[in-house]
Amino acid sequence: MYNITPRPYLANPQITRAVLESHKFVLQKKYGQNFLIAPHVLENIVAAAGITEDDFVLEIGPGIGTMTQYLAANARAVTAVEIDRKLIPVLEDTLQGFHNVEVIHQDILKVDIAALARERNEGKPIKVVANLPYYITTPIIMNLLKQSVPVSGITVMVQREVTDRMQSGPGSKDYGALSLAVQYFAKPQIAAVVTPDCFMPQPKVESAVVHLARYENPPVCVEDEKLLFSLVRASFNQRRKTLVNGLKNSPELSLKKEEIESAIEAIGKPLTVRGETLTLEEFAALANVLSSNFVA
Ligand code: SAM
Repeated sequence: MYNITPRPYLANPQITRAVLESHKFVLQKKYGQNFLIAPHVLENIVAAAGITEDDFVLEIGPGIGTMTQYLAANARAVTAVEIDRKLIPVLEDTLQGFHNVEVIHQDILKVDIAALARERNEGKPIKVVANLPYYITTPIIMNLLKQSVPVSGITVMVQREVTDRMQSGPGSKDYGALSLAVQYFAKPQIAAVVTPDCFMPQPKVESAVVHLARYENPPVCVEDEKLLFSLVRASFNQRRKTLVNGLKNSPELSLKKEEIESAIEAIGKPLTVRGETLTLEEFAALANVLSSNFVA
C-alpha cells in the first residue's frame, strides 16, 4: 500500500477562518500569531529553502499547520515546534494524513536542536524554515547561528526592517550584533517581500523572506569565536561609548584598560574609536590580538 501525502489546503482565508472557528481558537498576540493565507508565498518559501525529499526540516511555530503541510509535501521529515498548547489539538486535526510530521509542544529557545539533528537526521545538517513570531526573531536567529548545531540553511519570514539589520555595515543605524552574527555565519539573501494582506490577522508592517545559507568557513579567521561575540555584544550594548569604555565595562570580558588599549592600537585604530564603526574584519582582528594575549 502507498502512503500518499495529502496536498496542502490551509493557505486560504476561508479555510483558515473555518479551522480557527471549529476549534474555538483565540489568537494570541503575545505569541506573534499571524498565519499565512497566500499559497504563492508558501511556494516561494519552500523554493527559497531548497527543500528536497532527502531533507529533514525543523519548523519553528507551525501555527495551525499551514506551512507545515507544504514542508511535509516536499521534505522527507518535518519536526514542528509550537509553544502554544492550544494549537496542539488543531495541528493533530490539520496534519492528519501527513505521516512525516512530528509536532513538539515546546518553546524553541529551550529545544536542544543539536540533539534533534542527531536523533532525526544522523547528525547531518538540517534546514530550518519558519514564519517567525516577530517578538523573538532576533534571539531565535542568534541561537540558530551560534549554537554549534548542524544547520545548513535558515529560511525565515521576518519583519522587513530585520533584513536591513542583517545586511548593514558600519555607519548605518541598523548595524549591530545581529548584522555581525549573520554576516559571520551566513550569506543573507532576500527571497521575497511580503505584504500584510498575505497574513491573518494582518501585521502592521511589511515582511520579507530571507534565506541564510550557512558558510562552510566564515569569511574571517577567528581563533576564539566566543570572544569575538563577547566583544561585539560589549560594543553594541553601549554603542555611544568609546570601544575602550564599552569593553572595560563588560562583565563578561574582565579585560584591563591597558590590555584593551594596546589591542586597539595593534589593529591600527585610535583609542577614541567607537565599536559601532568597526567592520567584521576589524572585530575579528581585535579578537585575535586579545586571544593571543591570553595564550601568552
Ligand atoms: N507557521 C504558521 C504560518 O505561517 O501560518 C504560523 C506562524 S506565526 C507568525 C508564529 C507561530 O510561532 C505561532 O504559531 C506561535 O504560537 C509560535 N510561537 C511563538 N513563540 C514561539 C516559541 N518561543 N517557540 C515555538 N513557537 C512559538
